[in-house]
Amino acid sequence: MAKYHPDLDLITEYAAGSLPLAQAACLSAHLNYCEQCRRTAGQLEDLGATLFDSLQGETVGDVQLNAVLARLDDVPPLSYAKVEQPLAGQTPALLQRLMKGEFADLVWKKITSTLSISYLSTGDPGYEFALYHIKAGGKIPEHTHKGSEMTLILEGGFSDADGTYHQGDFLYREPSDVHAPTALQSEDCICLAVLDAPLKFTGWKHRWMNPFLSLNAG
Ligand SMILES: [Zn+2]
Repeated sequence: MAKYHPDLDLITEYAAGSLPLAQAACLSAHLNYCEQCRRTAGQLEDLGATLFDSLQGETVGDVQLNAVLARLDDVPPLSYAKVEQPLAGQTPALLQRLMKGEFADLVWKKITSTLSISYLSTGDPGYEFALYHIKAGGKIPEHTHKGSEMTLILEGGFSDADGTYHQGDFLYREPSDVHAPTALQSEDCICLAVLDAPLKFTGWKHRWMNPFLSLNAG
């Protein structure tokens, strides 16, 4: 059972469909683990649909109509809005689709002796969407962010100065929050991180790593 959740503003943006795709995918994956947020998102979606129904219809010009019809032929975008059958203990279906296999099948870029990163492509160029594998007891060097950082724990767990997080827990860090997560001693941790700007390490020992982390294997 997740203990850390997205706040109501984020769930509202998600339900309204206004969250950027990569962040929405991360939030959607949290819903796989969290009945409470799933219910909240469902209620907000219903509310949005009711409001939408009550709007007055407007006449649509030919140009708009043609643009909409033309889009019907497009390849369907990545779908994340429906979280149907959450399966406890399984990787969320959406992530499985993006990974096209198991964690072990991915290309992992080794950053330190305890940290490897695998970049996944969501088709959203504004965000870095990556899996972090931290070995048991391993530490991610202290860092700040230029932008926000969303994290969802998929396996194992980690702790930082603010708490200890386990599978399904969702964290949202604002720019300039400094933290240095350490994986639990008992098992490796795999988490999903969505960044809207590359990480910036603050410890002098790790300055050299920045170029590696901002590389996106696509
Ligand atoms: Zn939740």
